[in-house]
Amino acid sequence: MDALLKARSAAIVGGQETEFLKTVDPANAKLVARQRQVFANLQKLGVRQVGFQRETEYVAEEKPESGQGAQAFRVRMLIQLTGIDAAARATPLGYTFAERGGQVVLVSDDDLAQEADRGTYREPWDLGPIEVVRRPGLLIVVPSQERANGVRLANEAAAALPAVRAATRRAQSGILVVALADKRSMSPEWQTGGHPAGAVATPNLAPSKADETILEVVGSRVVINPTERKTAGRLLLAHEFTHVVMAPLGNAAPTWMVEGLAEYVERRLAEQEGDDRPAKKRAELRRTVIPELTVLPIDGTFHGDYGDESYGVSWLIIEHLATTHGLPKVIALYTDQAKGPDTPAHRDQLLQKHLSQTEPQLLTALKK
Ligand SMILES: [Zn+2]
Repeated sequence: MDALLKARSAAIVGGQETEFLKTVDPANAKLVARQRQVFANLQKLGVRQVGFQRETEYVAEEKPESGQGAQAFRVRMLIQLTGIDAAARATPLGYTFAERGGQVVLVSDDDLAQEADRGTYREPWDLGPIEVVRRPGLLIVVPSQERANGVRLANEAAAALPAVRAATRRAQSGILVVALADKRSMSPEWQTGGHPAGAVATPNLAPSKADETILEVVGSRVVINPTERKTAGRLLLAHEFTHVVMAPLGNAAPTWMVEGLAEYVERRLAEQEGDDRPAKKRAELRRTVIPELTVLPIDGTFHGDYGDESYGVSWLIIEHLATTHGLPKVIALYTDQAKGPDTPAHRDQLLQKHLSQTEPQLLTALKK
């Protein structure tokens, strides 16, 4: 069985379809067709390395419906896309194996799909025929019949990247952007303030070297909501790419800082391109919400206290800090905050350290 998993890895990296399909039950035409599609998709994406590991702590389930002696295993797929991922990331699979004609083969790939911790989304190579469009540091995945939208998104993404790099002085080796029509490409759990996000920067997880039962963040990818894939542009992508490049710093930064910086990069790009909406929004917020502000937006109630204006408020705080202290100081503060701990006392200390300000002083200055 482990030899079979090794053979699958080698066939994918080597581009050998025949060898790959030898690991699949030839009598199951649907499974063969699906596996052939997965193989073709992975070849399009470009796989630098891939491994399949049985999750050893998991007890195999008997699956008599898949044949005598059939057993379902939890398998961790570890995959690194060429030119995009700096490291392999993990994605959970459920594989059922059984003997056919004296040989162990894959007889089912979806027996465990309904289990809650298998994830509520599917990988882009699992959702039918894809097309990919490349730009330096970018890989856009679209349905096979939507190449034109892929090219459009690649151009938008390429326009967003320099804005993100200029503001943050940070970059990821490459970013995968998923823009599929299939709803399963995006998890219903990926929400912003109770409604589905237009797009999300979702963490790439890999087992920690010290303890492989613990997953750690090794990068991020961007998944565009299927309903937004035809309209998503450089502004949305600049926002998500900002999350991507800041993610490795840690996850303890206050939400207003995380979202405020992403909004700042997004809206600054909009203004650079002559969009007058940020100026209008700024004026409106300074007239309505900002004068009422008594504390910085609080993590737990971020989407509650100001509703959809939480993002705008956070944008103006970051913009104020960037104007008065300079963006490098904002990034330095963010870097320290992201490391944690995310306690109010520690956050106050860091405001003092980087900006020589207390929270009330910051708010007073913001309202001027
Ligand atoms: Zn965001």
